Amino acid sequence: MNSSGQSLPGKRILVTGGAGFIGSHLCDDLMKRGNEILCVDNFFTGSKRNILHLLDNPCFEVVRHDICFPLYVEVDEIYNLACPASPVHYQFDPVQTTKTSVSGSINMLGLAKRLKIRILQASTSEVYGDPAVHPQPESYWGNVNPLGLRACYDEGKRCAETLFFDYHRQLGLDIKVVRIFNTYGPRMHPDDGRVVSNFIVQALKGEDITIYGDGGQTRSFCFVDDIVNGMIRMMDTPKGFTGPVNLGNPEECSIRELAERIMEMTGSSSKIVHKSLPEDDPRQRRPDISLAQTRLNWSPTIDLDTGLARTIDYFESCISKPSKG
Ligand code: NAD
Ligand code: UDP
Ligand code: UDP
Repeated sequence: MNSSGQSLPGKRILVTGGAGFIGSHLCDDLMKRGNEILCVDNFFTGSKRNILHLLDNPCFEVVRHDICFPLYVEVDEIYNLACPASPVHYQFDPVQTTKTSVSGSINMLGLAKRLKIRILQASTSEVYGDPAVHPQPESYWGNVNPLGLRACYDEGKRCAETLFFDYHRQLGLDIKVVRIFNTYGPRMHPDDGRVVSNFIVQALKGEDITIYGDGGQTRSFCFVDDIVNGMIRMMDTPKGFTGPVNLGNPEECSIRELAERIMEMTGSSSKIVHKSLPEDDPRQRRPDISLAQTRLNWSPTIDLDTGLARTIDYFESCISKPSKG
């Protein structure tokens, strides 16, 4: 057991949602640092393809399991990422989405409590909802519609944060919470409906680029390697520093501008079409990352053009070799 809060090599680390987009990159990075990984995933949105390259490694183990059910394993540290993240997927079965954040977090917190180990929660900028404060600092309480279509995700993640902080206050659990902003990169699911994957796939296939609303809404996109690095830095902060800490790239851009950049970078002949804006779609989003800069000594290193170029390469290879996607 690691109770010192130090990132010692050779730990046995549980990554829930480890077969997903961010989780699989986290597994890669943690393994490169000499750790053993137990990846727990129910494969709702994750894929064996994301972890195929790890399956033969004796330091990697995968278990098909839904974290809404109790899990009894022996590990030194937990990263809790299990939860669908794209609106299309988390709205497919909203009750299961809330259960994953609430019951799933209770089970992972119960596991961390029994083992007396550190646990990190992958929370989200969605806890800020459609923010009235811009950019968003961690101190902002947010503006979330508790009854809307996004609530299963937003309120689920907010309740998960509450659970983490109550296990910390009431039971002394060693918790870490990061609030991740829009993340993109290789291994995003081509059909998950998120804007970066949609626009790139549409541009590469010469299909219409679907802008929802007028495209004036903004997001701040962070490349996945930077997010993973920030999560590991957060996990390795001294005991007692809980966060929440924003992780994201403050480089804000409108959805219209994103569409134009992707069309230019792919040399696409697609045309832009407008579709209706989904309910409660946040109008603006940009992280205030001062806390991550001071406490984690972390800032994103990969700018949008560089990250998009790598992501376009990835989707090009998926489209030309679909079975290897
Ligand atoms: P993803 O959908 O690719 O990964 C989620 C993984 O969790 C998948 O492998 C899925 O099969 C698994 N999963 C879902 N429900 C589960 C359950 N009940 N039990 C076990 N496994 C389950 O999404 P992602 O983009 O990699 O997101 C990972 C985490 O980061 C999520 O918790 C998400 O809320 C958070 N996050 C992501 C972003 C982003 O922009 N990608 C932004 C903010 C927060
Ligand atoms: N739990 C788990 N693995 C463990 C320990 C606990 O999955 O190793 C689950 C257990 O099913 C319980 C939940 O975590 O429902 C919360 O545990 P806690 O000890 O906080 O609560 P209690 O067991 O008292 O309900
Ligand atoms: N969006 C869009 N076209 C798409 C997919 C998404 O215009 O094909 C918009 C969406 O309405 C939102 C933004 O892009 O304003 C980001 O959407 P995404 O689902 O990627 O993330 P989230 O809304 O959860 O930040």
